[in-house]
Amino acid sequence: MSKAMQQATCSCGFSVTSENRNEVVKVIQGHAHDEHGKAMTRDDVLAMMRPA
Ligand SMILES: [Zn+2]
Repeated sequence: MSKAMQQATCSCGFSVTSENRNEVVKVIQGHAHDEHGKAMTRDDVLAMMRPA
């Protein structure tokens, strides 16, 4: 069985899919900061993460 892919989608439609949760957290945090001037915690991102 392959590793589960994780996906997080921003409210603007930007989405990240990776099997590495830390990578998803990092990309979404960077996106939220750069595009929305918003600071997201790791927990915020984990809460929006879904299996893909
Ligand atoms: Zn966004």
